[in-house]
Amino acid sequence: MNSGMSTSHSSVIVPAALRPEGSPLAQVKHIIAIGSGKGGVGKSTTAVNLAVALQKLGAKVGLMDADIYGPSLPKLMGLHEAPIEAPSGKIAPPVIHGIKCMSMGLLGGDTPIVWRGPMASKAVSQFLSEVEWGELDYLIVDLPPGTGDIQLTLAQSIRLSAAIVVMTPQALATEIARRGLKMFQQVRVPVLGLVENMSEYLCPECGHKSHLFSRGGGDSVAKELDLPILQRFPLDPLLLEDGDAGVPVNISRPESSSAKLFLELAQNMAAELSTLVSGGRNTRPVVVSTEPNEANKMLKVSWNDGRQSVVAYKELRYLCPCAVCVDENTGHRKIRREDVKPDVHPARIQTIGNYALGIHWSDGHSTGLYAFDYLRKILVPEAPSATL
Ligand code: ADP
Repeated sequence: MNSGMSTSHSSVIVPAALRPEGSPLAQVKHIIAIGSGKGGVGKSTTAVNLAVALQKLGAKVGLMDADIYGPSLPKLMGLHEAPIEAPSGKIAPPVIHGIKCMSMGLLGGDTPIVWRGPMASKAVSQFLSEVEWGELDYLIVDLPPGTGDIQLTLAQSIRLSAAIVVMTPQALATEIARRGLKMFQQVRVPVLGLVENMSEYLCPECGHKSHLFSRGGGDSVAKELDLPILQRFPLDPLLLEDGDAGVPVNISRPESSSAKLFLELAQNMAAELSTLVSGGRNTRPVVVSTEPNEANKMLKVSWNDGRQSVVAYKELRYLCPCAVCVDENTGHRKIRREDVKPDVHPARIQTIGNYALGIHWSDGHSTGLYAFDYLRKILVPEAPSATL
């Protein structure tokens, strides 16, 4: 687990929203996807128990099953109540353990449906736009396993704030986790970290842990992909029983070690999200596009964590941090917005060491060094080309 992360279980601080105001679901602060390169690694178990842990820590939480091929939310939450129509005409999601839930499995019918990509993403988009989620700190989304077109379309259409990838430590896991990560990068969703599941066996009798696979699988992936391991879960036979009984572990056995591990996961996730919101961990631009975007005249930056952000040239020029533009003693800006030429644009951009961009502006100003951390703060996340 990441060092320096809080392990007190009293509450969780919800970081500022990453989602733009005015977007659909603007009352939902963060939409977090739980994905995996393949099935059977504990993705749904993680999604459900993470949602319950966040709720226990005081957050307002929703849980959406985007795994419309094999919905497992109703079973894992012990939920059999169908959604009803709200007075607004939207769908009122059933609530269990204080969590609003939505899953294809709640809509009835035993016949497995053969979904094709666009149909699947449309159904999931409706879960977002037609369901009355209301005000939420977190909407946890259980994605279908895999990294194919369907998962890609879903990850794109949901407008996720961030994602967590669940993996097991077998030999193939590195490749599979890497594929999962690439998928999120492709749709510009930042990955908060990895969950390593079933790495050891937890004896329910004596609490002894024994290793099932070679050690260090998760560590090597995390190192290679430059991501933290947000939590490791042992194979806990009682967790499997809880799953079968439809009672999340923080409800059935709140004092157990698995319950505490999920509370820690919730806190670690919130901590990583805060880091992301405040500018990222060792983040640096990988692509800086200076192609003027016709309408907006934007500088566009792709970061090494998969995020893309933009800022209008005029605003970037105004926010120049150099001593000519900002009073070093008072911190007050010496230039006024209205004094910045509307057609100002970078004449040349260069990378300075591994910490800043130096911009030579068309108005002749060239003393500004924009540190990567500063850029992360002033650039706004680019809205992905989503269908919602
Ligand atoms: P996925 O969503 O990746 O397909 P699931 O969450 O459905 O995987 O988990 C697959 C099975 O493994 C379920 O029966 C679940 O209860 C069990 N399981 C998941 N994680 C653990 C664990 N740490 N210990 C014991 N059983 C687990």
